[in-house]
Amino acid sequence: MQSGRASCPSPEDSSAKPVDMHVHMVGNGSANTGCWLRISSWRYPMALMMMRHIGLPMAVLKGDLDRLYVEKLLHLVRTSSLGAVVILAQEQVYDDNGSVLADFGSFYVPNQYVLALARKHTELLPAVSIHPARRDALEELDRCLAGGAVMMKCLPNCQNINCSDRRFTRFWERMAEAQLPLLAHTGGEHTLPIIKPLYSDPRLLTLPLECGVKVIAAHCGTKSGLTDPEYFHIFAGLTRRFPNLYGDNSAFTVPIRGRHVVECTQEPLAQRIVHGSDFPVPVYGHFPCLRGYMDWKTLRTWQRNPNVMERDYQFKRAMGFPAETFTRIWSLLRLPAGVPLRNN
Ligand SMILES: [Zn+2]
Repeated sequence: MQSGRASCPSPEDSSAKPVDMHVHMVGNGSANTGCWLRISSWRYPMALMMMRHIGLPMAVLKGDLDRLYVEKLLHLVRTSSLGAVVILAQEQVYDDNGSVLADFGSFYVPNQYVLALARKHTELLPAVSIHPARRDALEELDRCLAGGAVMMKCLPNCQNINCSDRRFTRFWERMAEAQLPLLAHTGGEHTLPIIKPLYSDPRLLTLPLECGVKVIAAHCGTKSGLTDPEYFHIFAGLTRRFPNLYGDNSAFTVPIRGRHVVECTQEPLAQRIVHGSDFPVPVYGHFPCLRGYMDWKTLRTWQRNPNVMERDYQFKRAMGFPAETFTRIWSLLRLPAGVPLRNN
């Protein structure tokens, strides 16, 4: 399939609208979407808090979640400064031999669901999620490419994916051929259960990088909890070795994770950073203010604004991320020919 890259706005193009490239889809299957949700009792209060934070009633988790989540998402995007958001599918957990580990994983969002949503709503760009150990991984990748996938998302530590497993070489090569970028979670994670903590290490992205895949390390390898190992400097070192490695600033308003704002807003790293919120993760500006990354006026202006997606965008701008951070993703996404531009 032909890439539509030539028609894609360049990051320097002032007409290109900002994009939030890290937005989770969530569903409970209430609208026959195939999504499921399985939240442990101790994570349940956090899930309720997230729903309230984005403006949904707490009862929604056991109610009409699929429909209400999409409606809310579309409303937030349409009333924000953003031109589009990349919505993420969520793969199941597989073992190393490609069998589903049915008892693992806390939520699932099928590829066909995000692809169908994106066909219906031009503000939504679909990122699929495929475990490369799946026996039909290459077939699923081809199905997703044909369906218009713009990116592939995985969480190596939560989904049990050793990205540098040599058996996955053909999978990464196929992604590189198709110019489909990879968004891979790196660093700590406390919202979802972790299966393999060692797979949080950005060094495990070496094989896809060597295969020529454009890789975005979600969270730039930063730690999420106090006891997590810190991989930020490993991520920064890898960007010097691999010109095809990027990082996203998702959840950078969260304490601990947001400690590396200054390095990420300055060169040489700044030109490798793309903007993502990690929606529906809550957005509070107090920590960046206390650390001196952001002014108090911005906090007062935006913390009460119910559009959490716009709030996150405004906070990141106030934190000093250069304007290109918010449009750079246009040059990384695979935009199949015929996909209309989402920049006006
Ligand atoms: Zn995320």
